[in-house]
Amino acid sequence: MKRLFSGIQPTGELHIGNYLGAIKNWVELADKFDAIFCIVDYHAISVEYEIHEFSSRTQNLAAGLLACGLVEKKCTLFVQSHVQEHTELAWVLNSITPMGDLSRMTQFKDKSRQNPDNINAGLFSYPVLQAADILIYKAEVVPVGEDQVQHIELSREIARKFNARYGETFPEPKEYLTRGARILGLDGQAKMSKSLNNHIGVFEDEKSLREKLRTAFTDPARLRRSDPGNPDVCNIFTLHKFFTEEGVVKQIDGDCRKAAIGCVECKKILADRMVSHLTPLRERYEDLTSNQEKVRDVLSDGFVRCSGLAKTTMNEVRERLGLFRP
Ligand code: ATP
Ligand code: MG
Repeated sequence: MKRLFSGIQPTGELHIGNYLGAIKNWVELADKFDAIFCIVDYHAISVEYEIHEFSSRTQNLAAGLLACGLVEKKCTLFVQSHVQEHTELAWVLNSITPMGDLSRMTQFKDKSRQNPDNINAGLFSYPVLQAADILIYKAEVVPVGEDQVQHIELSREIARKFNARYGETFPEPKEYLTRGARILGLDGQAKMSKSLNNHIGVFEDEKSLREKLRTAFTDPARLRRSDPGNPDVCNIFTLHKFFTEEGVVKQIDGDCRKAAIGCVECKKILADRMVSHLTPLRERYEDLTSNQEKVRDVLSDGFVRCSGLAKTTMNEVRERLGLFRP
């Protein structure tokens, strides 16, 4: 089986962009690959965060991933900072990564804009640690949302560079994208993000989910109920395609274009579908967070496996680098 790797940061509440763009695919792909999933906590410290909440946030994210369907799968889940070789390999890869490549990264530019008082070197070299996360397991497939494609391309170039300079060591990883690859936030403009206040949580309670949808942006040109709408530019319609039955989606598409349905009703249909899709996940999440033993067991098994794999790769890398070994 080919190896697959993907990661997620414990930067906030798991949202439906993460779910549709990444985690739903993780669950599907877990059967087809040797799948390794990682909570990348060292990535998350490159922006401001609540120190006293960080540990429980990491544990709850693990519970969340299991609740989204990983609990039934044969896959590996672990926490990045538990396997020290990630940061060690990142240092090595830093030494072959051009500054110019890193300064072109869109995420660095976006996050620098969002955190103007904390533009640190960690934020800058984030994609190098990400390359290390992937390459340390010699993973070939990386399921991500569209925002991460540029980073995976860079991981590929870093692998190529390392191989050219030190000898064939790493396969070149490839991104795996699906149709949920770019979910917009409730503002209908920026991508939905944990660190921007524009998301709907996967485990959000029904009342607040309905309230958030109620105020979400739709087709900006549709000002009055009697104006025909354009589903092609409406974020609510995009979400319908994931949560609502095909026949109903078609009906809404037609009705919206001739103003036979208004945004209020359209949102209500979506809210009903989302609630019925997400409620079982929330119940499972509540079970897993109230009994953390299952989560700890999974993470501990993940650590044992990944630590072994990472040590093997790092030994090979040290040898390739020509380091002195007594
Ligand atoms: P942050 O705002 O802290 O960067 P995030 O919401 O972007 O958080 P990440 O942990 O950075 O989440 O990314 C986890 C996975 O979710 C990645 O594969 C990323 O591509 C995917 N993802 C994040 N946001 C979206 C989105 N709006 N649509 C589709 N996929 C997304
Ligand atoms: Mg992100």
